[in-house]
Amino acid sequence: MKRLRIEELLQRNVWDVGKKPHIEINMDACGSCESKLCVKLCPAGCYTVVDGKVLFSYEGCLECGTCRTVCPQGAVKWSYPRSGKGVYYRFT
Ligand code: SF4
Repeated sequence: MKRLRIEELLQRNVWDVGKKPHIEINMDACGSCESKLCVKLCPAGCYTVVDGKVLFSYEGCLECGTCRTVCPQGAVKWSYPRSGKGVYYRFT
């Protein structure tokens, strides 16, 4: 059996994205952050930096909770997606 890389495994997941974001960012608090750990540590790449500002999109979220844990500003208001929405992991 072929051993898959993590990127290949993640591409097998599917998402049923809800209309309401399950993660909200306090952009005032976020703007004063220097470490930007969310950008460095989000495994799904949901956080990017454009012109020095953090942009966030929740659609590809893996629901790992890392951003909530590492944000030094406490700027991440985090919850799971509404029941039936979000990521569906596929391991085969
Ligand atoms: S919960 Fe995990 S995957 Fe989702 S945005 Fe936060 S760090 Fe990224």
